[in-house]
Amino acid sequence: MIATEKFASEMILERFAQALKVGRLAHAYLLIGPKHIGKKQTALAVAKLVNCERAAHATFCDACPACVKITSGMHPDVHVLGQEDDESIKIEDVRDLLSQVQLRAFEARTKVFIIPNVERLTLEAANALLKTLEEPAKNTLILLTTSIPDSVLGTIKSRCQTLYLFPLGRTSLRDRLAAAGQVTQAEAHFLSCLAEGCPGRIPSAEAKAIVQRRNLVIDQFLLTRDDDMYVKDILKDPAQVKEMLHFLFCWFKDISLLKIDVESVHVMNIDRLTDLKVMKERYTFEEIEEIISDIVKTRKALEENFNVKVPLALLKERTWKR
Ligand SMILES: [Zn+2]
Repeated sequence: MIATEKFASEMILERFAQALKVGRLAHAYLLIGPKHIGKKQTALAVAKLVNCERAAHATFCDACPACVKITSGMHPDVHVLGQEDDESIKIEDVRDLLSQVQLRAFEARTKVFIIPNVERLTLEAANALLKTLEEPAKNTLILLTTSIPDSVLGTIKSRCQTLYLFPLGRTSLRDRLAAAGQVTQAEAHFLSCLAEGCPGRIPSAEAKAIVQRRNLVIDQFLLTRDDDMYVKDILKDPAQVKEMLHFLFCWFKDISLLKIDVESVHVMNIDRLTDLKVMKERYTFEEIEEIISDIVKTRKALEENFNVKVPLALLKERTWKR
């Protein structure tokens, strides 16, 4: 059975649909939620909702010319500021964007301006935005997002309606992933733990591949004595090493839970429960602690851009059990 809990973005869309219906759409909103929960996607969905040519209650069609243009980033009246990885957003960028606010819309019912991660605005840029927020333009919607609300100027916050995107419950995310059909229910359980309530961390198209990569870590790193090729390959990409260390960390956390007789429904890698149970017998508590500490140290070394070839070899040595 599919859980009825809704994605945070669906709840936000309903709020907007309701506000639209009664003609009480505010001119500016701040969407607050953890990283990867889907704040920017939600903002784009709102842009579609308010401009869709065939919108039904709380949904948009995703197929009309307006929706299609928003998806492709080609809508002349829907603007998204800055690239995701920009460290800061400068005054010139904000001025460029805001100069559009006063202009008449080309084709949209509502012009939409989206500023993701608004905490990245320099103070100067934030002040420029503040002016616009103080003098709202007609048929204009400004959507700001942040995962660190404490870093957003209070004066900006106070001029926006605040909406929270809460992490999704684990069972709800699990059932959705399983329903998408690419992974089993048990694998979906693993993925939902990995996502920590943020669906954006596990795009459904990626779900199977993530499970396969975790399986490789267990099969090639933990359960195979000599597989230098695997480690060699992984070492080419720091992001892969980081992910591998996270999988290992979660794996040994599971083993330590099983060792203290926690019910197996609480372990993360439940789809590999048989292997977990076998491995649980192979390690003492002290060994598990040492392994976890090694994983944490290696992760730190990786973050500090050290070569982790040797720490990984040591970790493999430490974890190897006949
Ligand atoms: Zn549409």
